[in-house]
Amino acid sequence: MNNEITPFSELDLSPEILKAVNRMGFTAPTPVQAQTIPLMRKGGDVIAKAPTGTGKTCAFGIPLLEELRSDTNDVQGIIICPTRELCIQIAEELRQLAAFRPDVRIASVYGGQPIAKQLAVLKKNPHIVVATPGRLLDHMGRGTVWLGNVYTAVLDEADEMLKMGFIRDVRRILNATPADTQVVMFSATISREVMDVAWEYQHNATEIHIAAEGDNRPQIAQFELMSSGSRRMEDLVHIIDALDLHRVMVFGNRKSTVRQLGERLHRQGRSVDCLHGDIPQSQRNKVMSDFREGRFEILVATDVAARGIDVDDVEAVFNYDIPDENEYYLHRIGRTGRAKRHGMAFTFMTPDDRFRLRDIRKYTHSVLTDIHFDENGGLVASDGTPLEQLLESRLPRENQE
Ligand code: ADP
Ligand code: MG
Repeated sequence: MNNEITPFSELDLSPEILKAVNRMGFTAPTPVQAQTIPLMRKGGDVIAKAPTGTGKTCAFGIPLLEELRSDTNDVQGIIICPTRELCIQIAEELRQLAAFRPDVRIASVYGGQPIAKQLAVLKKNPHIVVATPGRLLDHMGRGTVWLGNVYTAVLDEADEMLKMGFIRDVRRILNATPADTQVVMFSATISREVMDVAWEYQHNATEIHIAAEGDNRPQIAQFELMSSGSRRMEDLVHIIDALDLHRVMVFGNRKSTVRQLGERLHRQGRSVDCLHGDIPQSQRNKVMSDFREGRFEILVATDVAARGIDVDDVEAVFNYDIPDENEYYLHRIGRTGRAKRHGMAFTFMTPDDRFRLRDIRKYTHSVLTDIHFDENGGLVASDGTPLEQLLESRLPRENQE
């Protein structure tokens, strides 16, 4: 670890949280955690711009738990996030953090899950509620959740959530919390909508900017490859086999692409599953946990379905299609190289995509190396350097702790 980094012991954490953090295998707080935790514990509003994989969940999870008073029955903290998958994942991480705090009750409510099940959970008077905006509003309307004593409201993946058109819902939720509620926002970018909500609901917020640089930057070797149409599947499989990959994510722009690619890979006997908006909730959760536990190797997904999902050890990300939005490029490749692991990203493009890709490169400050298949079927850079050699020079063999 970098020696400028504060150890967890300097953050004045309770023994219960320290023990949990230890058990989770964390040795030191990430930069966004080191900065956010003290600010949030003092009750201040925070707006944090940080790339994916920088540990934002614990950055708000730790202070939420530390400042929680478990002797009341009111909801004290709400975490609003854009997707159900993210909701489940945040609740899971919070429960791990609260492993030695049996007094703390955490609930998650999201669309797609039977309301009856959630009613039962809400009846148990949770202290923290993790929710998607629509479903939370639904419960507020039914009177099954009351936000009148909320102390902290966290908006996770705020840019994505507000862009997805939830801005009105988020406003209605925040309007139902006390005027002096601590409002904390986490976002990969500070979009117009994020600024609007910050302006409206935050008081003297401290801005934190975590640059995707240096120590903090995920180590991702990025490549681009001319490949289009059905060629892409051959090339995909070829790369997977050549590099002996066993945990990869493949992104397509449309549900139909994802579904078809999934089916074709399946017919080839590949260990594959899909995630897109048409897949029922119960099945989505299963796909995610199966992938996380390594029960299949290739996850084909659309952007929204995979948003914010944290799966460790994804070896490579493939952009089967060039993402529609520049930001998506970062979100996608951020699935690999998480928490200081190294990763690879391959982007398939057609000659027509050149300008789109140049735009993405410029906007995201990404460096992509052009690769192609040589006459022997080996992957090489334009100067003939084999891919394996490129990877070796890019990626450190071990994490340098
Ligand atoms: P983000 O929300 O910024 O994309 P997450 O909160 O999902 O990132 O964290 C990314 C990964 O890093 C998770 O697997 C998480 O358990 C891990 N992580 C979080 N904090 C630390 C830490 N202090 N040290 C090591 N790993 C951490
Ligand atoms: Mg996150």
